[in-house]
Amino acid sequence: MSDIKTEGQRLKEELLNNPKNGWDETSESDRRTIREFCDEYIHFLNQSKTERECVKSAIQIAQENGFKPIDKMKKLKAGDKVYYVNRDKNIILAVIGSESLESGLRVVGAHIDSPRLDLKPNPLYEDNGFAYFKTHYYGGIKKYQWVTIPLAIHGVVALKNGKKVEISVGEEGDDFTFVITDLLPHMARRQMEKKMSEGIEGEDLNLLIGSIPFDDEKVSEKVKINIMKILNDQYGIVEKDFLSAELEIVPAFKAKTIGFDRSMVGAYGQDDKVCAYTSLRAICEVKNPKHTAICILVDKEEIGSVGNTGMEARTLEDFIGELLVLNGEEHNPNVMSRLLRNSKMLSADVDGAFDPIYASTSEKRNASFFGMGVGLNKYTGARGKSGANDANAEYVAELRKLFDDNKVRFQIAELGKVDEGGGGTIAYILADKGMDVIDCGTPVLSMHSPYEVASKFDIYMSYKAYKVFMK
Ligand code: MN
Ligand code: MN
Repeated sequence: MSDIKTEGQRLKEELLNNPKNGWDETSESDRRTIREFCDEYIHFLNQSKTERECVKSAIQIAQENGFKPIDKMKKLKAGDKVYYVNRDKNIILAVIGSESLESGLRVVGAHIDSPRLDLKPNPLYEDNGFAYFKTHYYGGIKKYQWVTIPLAIHGVVALKNGKKVEISVGEEGDDFTFVITDLLPHMARRQMEKKMSEGIEGEDLNLLIGSIPFDDEKVSEKVKINIMKILNDQYGIVEKDFLSAELEIVPAFKAKTIGFDRSMVGAYGQDDKVCAYTSLRAICEVKNPKHTAICILVDKEEIGSVGNTGMEARTLEDFIGELLVLNGEEHNPNVMSRLLRNSKMLSADVDGAFDPIYASTSEKRNASFFGMGVGLNKYTGARGKSGANDANAEYVAELRKLFDDNKVRFQIAELGKVDEGGGGTIAYILADKGMDVIDCGTPVLSMHSPYEVASKFDIYMSYKAYKVFMK
């Protein structure tokens, strides 16, 4: 083989887009950096399975990195780091820039809620010697994936006296866990003939929590009484306290490295905690930016970004209003409009990666692949881009330059074949306010399942992308 390139080879290199696997160009020391970053990510995942736990972890990371609660500040100056916590389920962090706020912000936004099973308000019942919790699933799940796996209960019970009882039980490492049963194959002939979406029904996702009857011939519901007594001894709660509780059923297993080559992370809730963690880590390393950097972690994305802890709420604008006042800038509707219009955002949410086992659902030329870097979606939506925030070409060009100049590996893709499906994120909400927005996040396999998989290379590139964007 000669080293001299043919005309065709030269043209191919110069003119065509030749995507390469990112691991190929990663040195041994860079691989070590990526592995260490992901070890910390795995630790974060194991502490942060719910939105409330995520906010708690985020506050800790923020404080360790010099962020102060905004209500403690009398005024702000360039370089200051502040955060605001909204009802323990939504957090906003900011690093004040040297330019005015009105000149625009650099926002990275991710969501910290994930698909799961919530307890119903009246969850506890007994049936033929078993005690169960009734559940109502939250977000888009494949119901059959949630039976016969170990499950844990995480959340809070709010009491009438204003106190809150925090519960986290059934985790891997505890001496007991919970499960939802399924029918044995020997008796499942009819069930197996059903459509997959109907094989397990929502009303049958009942969590098995006990089977010993309370020893008293004079009462009925003996198993239920026994369970409630255990809960009362342990947490001081009575059955009515479930009325004001937010208890979430999540997979009990721990986040872990996947593969002989240790190249991937498997965990519950990587949609969208992978982008939440990487954007959080990124803003912690932003020092003295020109434009004020914001990282917002929101709740309720999986059910439409609704409610006062979701992205549709006014919280971000209220927070920006406070920044304006504390920064000594004018705060009126015109300033706010100009500020939002001058702002740029990365909607940090995961992308469905190409899965060779289900190749027929993707269009290979426009799918995101493991090991190719952070994934950008110019648009999402379904069937004719319906409901999509279609990022402006000029903005995409700006990001291409930023990422190329800073050696951030990225790929631009679509979610699935044209008529196959689609999805949405928080992108359109901030675009509605006037910002330039694009979806930008880590590709994952088995999205919305109890155990999602992501590539360590792409996780690290997501972190790098958010960091150079906010700097
Ligand atoms: Mn998501
Ligand atoms: Mn999702």
